[in-house]
Amino acid sequence: MTMALEAWTTALDASAAPTRLLIDGQWAASHNGETAPTFDPGNDDVLAQVAQGGLQDVEDAVTAARRAFDEERWTGLSGEKRGEILWRIAELIKENATEIGLLESRNMGSPVPHARAMVLEAAAQFRYYAGWADKIHGRTIDIGPTERRVQGYTLREPMGVAALIVPWNAPMISASKKLAPALASGCSCILKPANESPLTALWLGQLMQEAGVPNGVVNIVTGSGAIVGDALASHPDVDTVSFTGSTEVGRSIVNAATGNMKKLSLELGGKSPVIVMPDADLETAIPGVADAIFRNTGQVCAAGTRLFVHEAVLDEVVQGVAAVGRSLKVGYCTDPGVDLGPLISQKQLDRVTAYVESGRDDGARVVSGGERIGDRGNFFEPTVIVDVDQSMKMMREEIFGPVLGVMPFTDLDTAIKLANDTPYGLASSVWTRDVAVAHSIARKFRAGRVGINVHRAGGVYMPAGGYRQSGWGRESGTEGLDAFLETKSVVTLLDR
Ligand code: NAD
Repeated sequence: MTMALEAWTTALDASAAPTRLLIDGQWAASHNGETAPTFDPGNDDVLAQVAQGGLQDVEDAVTAARRAFDEERWTGLSGEKRGEILWRIAELIKENATEIGLLESRNMGSPVPHARAMVLEAAAQFRYYAGWADKIHGRTIDIGPTERRVQGYTLREPMGVAALIVPWNAPMISASKKLAPALASGCSCILKPANESPLTALWLGQLMQEAGVPNGVVNIVTGSGAIVGDALASHPDVDTVSFTGSTEVGRSIVNAATGNMKKLSLELGGKSPVIVMPDADLETAIPGVADAIFRNTGQVCAAGTRLFVHEAVLDEVVQGVAAVGRSLKVGYCTDPGVDLGPLISQKQLDRVTAYVESGRDDGARVVSGGERIGDRGNFFEPTVIVDVDQSMKMMREEIFGPVLGVMPFTDLDTAIKLANDTPYGLASSVWTRDVAVAHSIARKFRAGRVGINVHRAGGVYMPAGGYRQSGWGRESGTEGLDAFLETKSVVTLLDR
């Protein structure tokens, strides 16, 4: 048993000492001593008491990150060495994947195999960006010849202190998608996990120390968004904020960041469309569409929540997706054969229930699901709803639950127009055997990602992010580094 596992087995005893904050390489209680429980959403048990950082803790974390940056504790290491440390983090995550996956499962409800896969995806982020740490460089630009010939080159330099604020729905992945490129870029970081599911982020902090990340380069402050998150977003000594969460909170971060005109990258909400053409291979399309909406109990920013199906295959697709939904086993994360876990909280359960009710009130018809399961834990049935239109609240707003609205179409142009009729623009997919149609629809979607005969693929290798109110900037891929790098131009006047 590793040290980390021992520590976290203890943490899962709710009567054990509260979790701590990581500041300048030391694990410490919050200044105010406040704690808040974090729950197992599958049975409402308290899993641990989580330290609630306050303004003084944010101050300490920012000071530590700034000092680490100014003293070049991280940037002073060679790119190769930093790459080695990032690779080591990936290895440590992999070595502990089973235990971290179990903790992730218990804190956010996802079935154990699914949570373990997410943990391995987090490791992949560190492996990928480990390879970038010694390959970040600029361009040379030869200007002229004119009467003044200039040689120019660019430098890519770390932005400095980065605040990383993440949501609860995929805690390890969200944190790693930010920490890995921020560290590869040379930034010092303060991570703010979500209060609903902060435990694996703390474990990750421990693994990062073990891997050799110098003190102060990664700090972790748990606590409320309104206090810790807002203080980071408005802090004059934070250079950039990378945020993943709702569009509503994203907007308040934009406002908070104006004081020192922070750089921002924002991964926000979505209401992603899926189009099924009449020639689609329904044997792959039906399970694919079901996975697009039901995976992680619909708590996925890129979930395919609005389905446009050609009239010719409407019945087959609706009945098929509903049948997949009914066949999925919803249950406690460690129960064998469970496909879907609970929603994260009572609040989220109430929210999803209210959206389904609003659909019913607006005249929509529930084909399958639509109800809470049991009375312990926040379980909700995979739900398929028809007779909907784009004016309905449930079709315009992000639900963040396993609820699909289906609309038929006959004319493709109209379907694309409706697909794009949303303030969001995160993801999309089209299902067809016609390559030309697929690629022309790919160009028409106003979204940061398009899947052809798949809703989600590409992992760390492909940039992900949103058009319109789904965000600013991109995560993953080489583009993921841009959120943490400045570009400096250096010019030299040549002697002809
Ligand atoms: P949220 O916006 O409520 O919270 C996200 C994080 O921000 C949490 O850590 C929270 O504590 C913090 N926060 C809350 N108020 C804050 C404030 N005023 N200032 C600074 N920080 C604050 O989101 P959530 O409910 O945790 O997660 C669900 C949302 O996240 C959904 O809208 C979903 O679409 C979005 N999401 C987006 C992506 C993406 O990549 N685009 C990925 C996952 C989730």
